[in-house]
Amino acid sequence: MAVIIDGKAAAQSIKKKLADLTAGMTSKPGIAVLQVGENPASQSYVNSKEKDSQEAGFYSEIFRLSENTTQEALIKRVEDLNARKEINGILVQLPLPKHMDSDTVLNKINVLKDVDGFTYISAGRLMSGKPAFVACTPKGIMKLIEETKEKIEGKTAVVIGRSNIVGKPMAMLLLNANATVTICHSKTKNLKEVCASADILVAAIGRAKFVTADMVKSGAIVIDVGINRVDGKLVGDVDFENVKDKCSFITPVPGGVGPMTRAMLMQNTYEAYLLQNERAK
Ligand code: NDP
Repeated sequence: MAVIIDGKAAAQSIKKKLADLTAGMTSKPGIAVLQVGENPASQSYVNSKEKDSQEAGFYSEIFRLSENTTQEALIKRVEDLNARKEINGILVQLPLPKHMDSDTVLNKINVLKDVDGFTYISAGRLMSGKPAFVACTPKGIMKLIEETKEKIEGKTAVVIGRSNIVGKPMAMLLLNANATVTICHSKTKNLKEVCASADILVAAIGRAKFVTADMVKSGAIVIDVGINRVDGKLVGDVDFENVKDKCSFITPVPGGVGPMTRAMLMQNTYEAYLLQNERAK
């Protein structure tokens, strides 16, 4: 039976550390969250971000904009926030309504305030091995792997999924940590064999219980990013019940990657605050 990596506890401890750090500050790290429309999942994510900001002792502003906000009006909001000194981090909640182009909007965020790490500049800096704001999910996963105290260097890592927000930055972080990395996707042949070669297996697919025990190497570290709703219950991309007996470490869903993703947004905002105050000196 694997050790279950407790993302909830790890996230709580990061938020507690941030709260201790901000308690003694006269000015606070500030985050602005922009939500457009009433997508229920987005609403719940935005509410969580507001709660996390409070727990970390940050200043926060939440903008809940109507579904028919124009792209120009949203960009104007972003630009106003770029100019405001008390706002260190800006997050545009995805998905945006269909009449907007997410990339256009996201790339208006000042790179120093890009706490989600989704601008082309942040992604390019990560790719080039330069300091950058890294997308919260993969950044949080690296922390969860650190929790295992296992060395990443030299290990074989397989990431299933190649999205810009999870799969690709995840692969890049593992590569930067000197793992030998393979990225799999829907056109990958021999997926089972490739996955079964992984010392570290990250599943970011969006299909309930996709990763079965026969796809997992004995003793592997298994990270489950997936969030799927099955009969009203949250289920990951990994068949947890069967895989847990084969691997050495595994993240649960819920309580694994999700809470760490949230904590990393706070961590990035804190780092943005330090960076901007350093530059202002
Ligand atoms: P995307 O839909 O953008 O990407 C899914 C990836 O899975 C694609 O690259 C796709 O391949 C690949 N894929 C789909 N089917 C298969 C298959 N049969 N075999 C191999 N690969 C396949 O999703 P995201 O990256 O945004 O998210 C992935 C999951 O993680 C979702 O469940 C999402 O809800 C969750 N998530 C969780 C977060 C958290 O905080 N816990 C944060 C972000 C996401 P192809 O490119 O070829 O289409």
